[in-house]
Amino acid sequence: MTPAIVRPDDGVPADIDVGMVIIGAGACGLIAGLAAADAGCSPLILERDPVPSGSTALSSGYIPAAGTRHQAARGIQDNPEYFARDILAKTKQRTDPAMALRVAQASAPTLQWLEDRHFIPFVLLDDVHYPGHSVVRMHAVPERSGSALMARLSAAAAAAGIDVVPNARATTLFVDPTGRVTKLAVERPGGLIETVSCQSVVLACNGYGGNPDLISRYIPEMTAALYAGHRGNTGDALLWGQQMNAATSDLSAYQGHGSYADPPGVLITWTVMAEGGIQVNCHGERFSDESQGYSEHSSIVLRQPGGVAFAVYDARIDQFAQAFPEYRTADSLGAVRRAPDLATLAERITVPAAALEQTVRHVQRFATGGVDPFGRDFTTRPALKGPWCAVRVTGALFHTQGGLVVDEQARVLGTDGTALPNLFAGGGAARGVSGPAVDGYLSGNGLLTAATLGRIAGTAAARLVHSIT
Ligand SMILES: Cc1cc2nc3c(=O)[nH]c(=O)nc-3n(C[C@H](O)[C@H](O)[C@H](O)COP(=O)(O)OP(=O)(O)OC[C@H]3O[C@@H](n4cnc5c(N)ncnc54)[C@H](O)[C@@H]3O)c2cc1C
Repeated sequence: MTPAIVRPDDGVPADIDVGMVIIGAGACGLIAGLAAADAGCSPLILERDPVPSGSTALSSGYIPAAGTRHQAARGIQDNPEYFARDILAKTKQRTDPAMALRVAQASAPTLQWLEDRHFIPFVLLDDVHYPGHSVVRMHAVPERSGSALMARLSAAAAAAGIDVVPNARATTLFVDPTGRVTKLAVERPGGLIETVSCQSVVLACNGYGGNPDLISRYIPEMTAALYAGHRGNTGDALLWGQQMNAATSDLSAYQGHGSYADPPGVLITWTVMAEGGIQVNCHGERFSDESQGYSEHSSIVLRQPGGVAFAVYDARIDQFAQAFPEYRTADSLGAVRRAPDLATLAERITVPAAALEQTVRHVQRFATGGVDPFGRDFTTRPALKGPWCAVRVTGALFHTQGGLVVDEQARVLGTDGTALPNLFAGGGAARGVSGPAVDGYLSGNGLLTAATLGRIAGTAAARLVHSIT
């Protein structure tokens, strides 16, 4: 594969000339495109895949937003300041507070704009309670999936007349002596190279989860982990940025997940834990406080024997989880084992029956109080009771959260703190708001910055084109 490289501008005229180029057609790229179109610009979106999907289509599609009309309709009091406070608390105050507030402030207006201007409806997920969010603020399209979100964004981009070019991997950025990107080389099927000149560029090509070398350099703890995100996200934005002396931060940060059923390779919603489920290892023993975030649980599960665990829960939670499309998929693929009693369940998942029974009896007692050795409060949900369910899970890497440092207009900053002349970034290409480590990821931080920075970057990059032409 041709590496992502930066070259000095060679003065050779490009094959085509456009005002604005967006690299990547996931949530960030398509939202940047819609914002640019609204600002009167006709962006060209380059996408390496034959059909745009990205990690966005693999995701659950949950976007947190604070102060939406959907929350107001349910009487939920929320505002950007509360949301930013939750983001900062999850990172233990180790992210940029101004950036956290900026994306929190942009969250509700971005969803409302997508609904009103681009006819993408959202619903509030009032059955989703994830650790760290002080109120219910997760939104999704009515189908509750990332693939449906992608389908709706792609349809909106088509309706807005935006050119999304598939099978077009940007490989080379040509840069003049002032640091301005003047031209891009694009790899097309059959090894054909085309060049595009432009006045502004938005990097919406996500992070480096699909680049094993970068993962072992920046996130060594996940080198051997299963990567559940889009394989085409090979860190091109980071590689270009580093060659252009762009500032980078939090490269060790990522979203992991401690409840990924493998096989078949499907997410088991963490609400199974939030509703009272537990995780045991192959010895039938609990090993953590499952009421912590799912992200940090990825490495906790990977430290168990064989890097696996079993989510153990009851029929009530099984019924509850059926509202989640991925859970239904995992169930239809045979990942959910059911049994009338714990001894049979233990046999079905091959853990020692006596140990599993003892673990569950302990947990049942904590439902009425008492001190769980791992510090979890079991009194907020009904005590577990049979019939029983279990799913074998592992810890997975979902996407990286570090990246290029951007300012309030999503302009990429240089290591000296000044903005590069015409380079913007959002989504997984930019530094997120999750601090430097896995435990800073507040659920929804991924699509939060894809949506909000996508809109900010698209608008600012379009304005730059207008100011030049
Ligand atoms: C299983 C799973 C569940 C998740 N659930 C959630 C959730 O519910 N909520 C949430 O907030 N986050 C979730 N995430 C994270 C979320 O998917 C990402 O944060 C988000 O999709 C990032 O959007 P993006 O537009 O930056 O990247 P992507 O959607 O990955 O889009 C990037 C695009 O760029 C293209 N590309 C890459 N390099 C090039 C190049 N050189 N030239 C041209 N094109 C290129 C790729 O092919 C891709 O289409 C989940 C992730 C996973 C894996």
